[in-house]
Amino acid sequence: MKHLNMRKLLLLASAALIACTIYGRKPIKALLVTGQNNHNWEVSRYVLKDILEQSGLFLVDFAISPERGKDMSGFIVDFSPYSLVILDYNGAPWPAETMSNFEQYAQKGGGIVVYHAADNSFPKWEAYNEICGLGGWEGRNEKSGPYAYWSNGELVKDYSPGNGGSHGSQHEYMMNSRTNAHPIIKGLPNRWAHAKDELYDRMRGPANIDALLYTAYSDTDKGGSGREEPLIFTVKYGKARIFHTMLGHCGATYENNPAMQCTGFQVLLLRGAEWAATGKVTQKVPKDFPSSSYITYRHNYKEQTDESQ
Ligand code: ZN
Repeated sequence: MKHLNMRKLLLLASAALIACTIYGRKPIKALLVTGQNNHNWEVSRYVLKDILEQSGLFLVDFAISPERGKDMSGFIVDFSPYSLVILDYNGAPWPAETMSNFEQYAQKGGGIVVYHAADNSFPKWEAYNEICGLGGWEGRNEKSGPYAYWSNGELVKDYSPGNGGSHGSQHEYMMNSRTNAHPIIKGLPNRWAHAKDELYDRMRGPANIDALLYTAYSDTDKGGSGREEPLIFTVKYGKARIFHTMLGHCGATYENNPAMQCTGFQVLLLRGAEWAATGKVTQKVPKDFPSSSYITYRHNYKEQTDESQ
């Protein structure tokens, strides 16, 4: 937290507070953890913050680690003041105190969003892999747990040997719902078209998926697995509420970022984040949600209301 410019933080916090007051409810306090990633975290952290805060529901602080290769010992994070932790970190191990703080936060019933490459991080940290449910790369293999994919109406766990984590070329693809009983996806279409993005495949882990919300077919023509891959789900871990989305590979810039500008990505993130923090989803299904025949975008990461059009 020491890298934060306090004045800027206060200004942002008050702007978000005003926004939340307009909507007439107390904001959900969220902490976004980042600072190292093989992705464009300097862009994605602001995109995630803007999606969450512009909904009027959340107030987002950053916990930014030292740069890759620098001494991590001072990166002590206290998660306890927050109702939601968003993971956008893929890098060096955290200090033992921060790891312990995070495990306790989860076990006591904290809300967690696992976003995209956060599930690549910490291949050897057992609790973290249980919190993610599935992960990839960084040496993951059959010792990390089974592959998991949707086949013949059920989630199959496949213990065959092999590396965990892969994706083909980026493309637009269809999301397919695998439950209709969960508040996160209540009222959303069973099939909707997602913007150009990576499609993670052959992920491995404890596979302690609680509610499998959406899968997508990983096409071999695009270099994929030929399987229906679990991409959005909740995870069973202690009393925690965990929402995991593998979507949202960050683009080159804030403005050129189709996977995160996709309305479907943003709405699922917002609904998953609210559920993780509170156990409920109070958001209405928006009019601009995509369908199976068209993709929609929120280029400024904000819902277009009647007043703002
Ligand atoms: Zn990516």
